[in-house]
Amino acid sequence: MKAVKLYEAGDLRVEEVDIPELEPGCVFAKVKAVGVCGSDIPRVNFYGAYHPNLTIGHEFSGEIVKVNQVGNWQVGDRVVVPPLIPCNHCQWCRTGHYSLCEDYSYFGSRRDGAMAEYVTVPEKNLLPLPDNVPFEAGAMVDPAANAIHGIWKGEINPGDTVAIYGCGPIGLFAIQFAKILGAGMVIAIDVKEQKLNIARDLGADEVINALEVDPVERIFELTGQAGANLVLETAGLSVVQNQSVCSAGKLGRVVILGISHDKLELSKSAADYLLRRELEVKGSWNSFSNPFPGREWTYSLELMAQQKLRTEPIISHKLNLANAPETFKKFLDKDFFFSKVIFLP
Ligand SMILES: [Zn+2]
Ligand SMILES: [Zn+2]
Repeated sequence: MKAVKLYEAGDLRVEEVDIPELEPGCVFAKVKAVGVCGSDIPRVNFYGAYHPNLTIGHEFSGEIVKVNQVGNWQVGDRVVVPPLIPCNHCQWCRTGHYSLCEDYSYFGSRRDGAMAEYVTVPEKNLLPLPDNVPFEAGAMVDPAANAIHGIWKGEINPGDTVAIYGCGPIGLFAIQFAKILGAGMVIAIDVKEQKLNIARDLGADEVINALEVDPVERIFELTGQAGANLVLETAGLSVVQNQSVCSAGKLGRVVILGISHDKLELSKSAADYLLRRELEVKGSWNSFSNPFPGREWTYSLELMAQQKLRTEPIISHKLNLANAPETFKKFLDKDFFFSKVIFLP
C-alpha cells in the first residue's frame, strides 16, 4: 500500500509499504479522507515525528475492510477515528481527562497514521460515521471537536459576545458552534481576507482584518465599550494572545487553544486588565472527555448529520497522497493560501 512517511524534519516521502498484520481487537480501515492538521506542518517541516520513518496523518475517516475479534463492527462500516489512544490507567485517564494522559499513543505522531491507503485501528477508537455525512467531513470531526472543547472550557452562555481570533479550521468551527449555542454577536478576527470571507459565510456577525484596524479597539466599539464575554485564541501567537486578553470585558473568559512555539507575554495594559476586569484565562488542550472519546466527538457528528455544522466551505484543497511532499513545502510559502487540506487516498 502507499503511505506518506516522515523520515526526518523536511524529508517526507510517498512510499510503497507492506500492509501490517491485523492484531486482535483491531480493524483495518481503508482511509477515505485524511486532513492536514495545523500541528502537522511544523512536525513535518521543522521538528520531525516521535519515531523516525512514521506514517503521518491523524484527522481521518474510512471504511472497515477487515476485522479481527471485534464486537459489533463489520466490513463495510463507515467510521471516524479519534487519534488519541489513552493508556486508561494513569490518574488522568481514570478521572476521564484523556487529553491529559501521561502515557498515550497517537496516530500520526507516535504510531503510524492515516496518510496511507489503509490503517490499523483499535476497536475503542471507532465511531460510526452517519450515512449522510461525507468522508471529507468525517475527517474534520477532529478540528470540530477541538473547537467545542475550547468553547465548553469557556462556559459559553446564550447572548454572549464571542470573539474568535484566527480563522483556521478550528476558529471556523468555533464560529459555528458559538452561533448554534446562542451567542449574541460572534466577531471573527484574522489577517487574511479570504479567511474572513469564509468566516462571514459560516455565520460570523462581524469580521475584523487585524492588519487594517486594531482588533481590540474595534471589539470595544462594536460592543458599546463592554468588550467580549468569551474570547478564543486559535492562532498561537504572542501578539494575538495579548490581544485576546485585552479584548475581554469585565468577568470575561479567555481560552487559549492555538499551539504556540513562543513565550506568552502580556503587555502592561493586558496585565492590568487581567486583574481589574477579573478575567479568567484558561488553556484548552485537544478534544477528549468522558466517556472516551467524549461528547465533543459525538456532538460534532450529530451536528454534521443534521447539516448544522458545515465543513465544505472550510476545505481549500482535495489532493492525492502523491501530492503530499510538494504540498508540505508549499505551506512554507507565505503567499500560498490554504484552509483545510484533505487527501483522498
Ligand atoms: Zn489535529
Ligand atoms: Zn492515561
